[in-house]
Amino acid sequence: MNPKELVATYAKKGFSEHLFAGTSGNLSMFDPKTGKMYITASGIRYEEMTAEDVMVTDLNGAVLEGRHRPSSEWRMHAAVYRAYPGLGAVVHTHSPYATAFAVCREPIPAALIEMHFFLGGDIPCAPYARPGTDAVGESAVPLLTDKGGCLLANHGVLAVGKDLQEAYLRAEYIEDAAKIYSLAKGIGQPVLLNGLDS
Ligand code: 13P
Ligand code: ZN
Repeated sequence: MNPKELVATYAKKGFSEHLFAGTSGNLSMFDPKTGKMYITASGIRYEEMTAEDVMVTDLNGAVLEGRHRPSSEWRMHAAVYRAYPGLGAVVHTHSPYATAFAVCREPIPAALIEMHFFLGGDIPCAPYARPGTDAVGESAVPLLTDKGGCLLANHGVLAVGKDLQEAYLRAEYIEDAAKIYSLAKGIGQPVLLNGLDS
């Protein structure tokens, strides 16, 4: 699959798996060799999205290819690629359990083994920033040094990876960790993992 097809495929997959609702969320890939960012268009319904709807921009938001406006969060995506040259994909969701933590401005505690393997432990919450502004990336990017993602206060989830497969998997595990922690809270007091041995 070419990058546009990959972005559209993962966008639709995220919608069918309830990581996205309505037109919320967005995702991208970045090719450092060409400087091209492949990013979902703003406000397009996932059911109707095709590879032709995926926009190609540079990291300054200049449109190189495509018939729409790039995602309103293109600045946040570009900030991640600028700060972390090893990263090649960003998945931003408003997935419900994780976003519930973001609404409380609480981290998702490291209570699940996958968090150790795939996420770098607990998932911190970045300070609130107005959507679509540079401030979203400015508040979130510093939290990603040793994490597979973070929460955006009152907004959603930012998951990153070397490629789209990895970033998407992390977005899935962030939602799963938040869901399992919330369910566990209804049963008793969740025990946090202190490394993998205890
Ligand atoms: P876009 O449709 O512009 O990508 O916006 C969705 C979103 O999640 C804004 O934060
Ligand atoms: Zn959003």
